[in-house]
Amino acid sequence: MKRFLFTPGHEQETFDLLIVGGGVYGAAMAYYASLANLTVALFEKEDFCAHTSANSQKVIHGGLRYLQSFDIKRVVESIRERQRFYALFPHLVQPLPCVLPVSGWGTKSREAMSAAFFVYRILQSFVCRGGLTAHGDKSPRMLSAQETVSMFPHLQTKKLRGGALWYDGLCVEPERVVMSLLKSAAGKGASIANYVKVNEIKRINDDILSVSLQDRLSGKESEIKAGKIALCTGPWFKETFKFASLPEELEKLTLISGVNVVTNPLTDSRASIALKSEKPENSRLMFVLPWKKYSIAGTIWEEGGDSPSQSFAKTETGTQLNSAVHETYPASMQPPAKLRSHFGYVPGEKGSNKHPADRILSHYKLVSREKEKQDDVIQVVGVKFTTVFDVTLKALAKLFPEQRFSDTIATDTLPVGSPQDSPETHLKLLQKRYGTTFSPELITMLFGILGTELSAVLEKYVLPGLKEEDEKKSYYHLLRGLTRFFIEEEMVVSLVDLIHRHFFPGMPGLPEADELEVIALEMTSLLDWSDAERDKELEKVRSFAKSC
Ligand SMILES: Cc1cc2nc3c(=O)[nH]c(=O)nc-3n(C[C@H](O)[C@H](O)[C@H](O)COP(=O)(O)OP(=O)(O)OC[C@H]3O[C@@H](n4cnc5c(N)ncnc54)[C@H](O)[C@@H]3O)c2cc1C
Repeated sequence: MKRFLFTPGHEQETFDLLIVGGGVYGAAMAYYASLANLTVALFEKEDFCAHTSANSQKVIHGGLRYLQSFDIKRVVESIRERQRFYALFPHLVQPLPCVLPVSGWGTKSREAMSAAFFVYRILQSFVCRGGLTAHGDKSPRMLSAQETVSMFPHLQTKKLRGGALWYDGLCVEPERVVMSLLKSAAGKGASIANYVKVNEIKRINDDILSVSLQDRLSGKESEIKAGKIALCTGPWFKETFKFASLPEELEKLTLISGVNVVTNPLTDSRASIALKSEKPENSRLMFVLPWKKYSIAGTIWEEGGDSPSQSFAKTETGTQLNSAVHETYPASMQPPAKLRSHFGYVPGEKGSNKHPADRILSHYKLVSREKEKQDDVIQVVGVKFTTVFDVTLKALAKLFPEQRFSDTIATDTLPVGSPQDSPETHLKLLQKRYGTTFSPELITMLFGILGTELSAVLEKYVLPGLKEEDEKKSYYHLLRGLTRFFIEEEMVVSLVDLIHRHFFPGMPGLPEADELEVIALEMTSLLDWSDAERDKELEKVRSFAKSC
């Protein structure tokens, strides 16, 4: 995927669709629009997936929670969307067992959860028919108290009456989902660039809009024309772009900030556990889920104000997390050590006395930015990573009512890297082929990032020049090859993006000193940096790690 470069010729061209924002919503929109053969341009002001989409709790929800409010439509929608993720990204999204320990009576009691599971199983069998059944889905069930404690031995057993077990999906690296969608769109001809900020939108005539952009790398300003514009700007949904005045529907919204904390592993289980404090003032569920070799705990929600700030340490998350865990777990357990925060914003309702978590929008919004022409410039206000495909298809249908957008999962239109058949088959082949050069563990890890792209990447970027050397030297050679791949094919321009979003996305701290040195030296040579430039880049990597 090459960065779109502005030439005078582009000022004459009119794109069918211009997308602002390279998070998951912008990327999915570019993917579906390109599959429908529209001419597409997408601009992201920073690196792709630099904000909310990277900092979510990474759960692809199956919609069980909507049964509490009898919102059957949304349960069905969530089951379908989770299945779609399994089908599109089988190497990136895996079923995540989730356990809610049950005690006492009420809406989360054993009886209530059993009844909810009964209804859920019926809905699940209704949704998981036809094409989606191939990807399987596990049914929720009740666990005995003994089974629950065997999964989570630290759990307090005094009032425990068992556990409710259901399955959501876990998207370990959302950055790879976004990258895969963008590459697929680029493969179909979409013009895509990171570090390009959209500053202004103007209407030229009834059919054509013009957009002023600034290339943040060269400083150059340009104008691009488009028939329709989709603003997939995440928490920047109040930006006016000096266009029409902000619609009331957006004016009424505010931001709710949320933080998830990456900790030492808090349980030995590969399942997620829902922790509930017994203190009435702290009745919210806190989920602890396994992520890579860590746990992620959260989400802690707070009032977020009107515009996103870059602060990553606004809340006393460590303290809140400690008390939530210890109110449910015995104090003898190791205290959770906060290693990193994943921080972001979601849209919520303004001004009421409700807790911020209860003001988070429950449903997406598609808001027209012009009163006169309702279907030309729309703001996509997403509320979930999970429902991104459903929402972007609806947004496209609103923008292009005449056009048909296919939401079937056809094997020839799978996103880049997605296996057409079982991921295990590919993994075994790759391990057999490269397992003597690189360890099967390393191949498994790389497959989890690149999927079926891995073979081609190794062939092009790693195997040439690889000598029969010791394991360490081969590993350094791999790091250098991948550095070149990320720069040439994923538009990486800075060391901080390369380390924190491509090599080690979302991970706490810094890589090993030797890994960092090898990668930094290779990048310096490929991008022709001076020593002073490299030192500056290294400093940014260190301060980013400290800031979160
Ligand atoms: C703490 C937290 C936990 C969450 N957990 C979950 C979860 O477990 N499951 C789930 O389904 N959902 C979850 N969500 C919700 C989910 O993460 C979001 O709904 C989704 O990621 C939003 O994606 P987006 O593309 O709209 O926004 P973003 O990912 O923020 O992308 C918007 C992009 O637009 C760019 N942009 C803005 N203005 C401009 C401009 N002028 N020019 C160019 N580019 C611009 C930004 O730089 C940004 O990269 C969570 C959210 C938070 C905050």
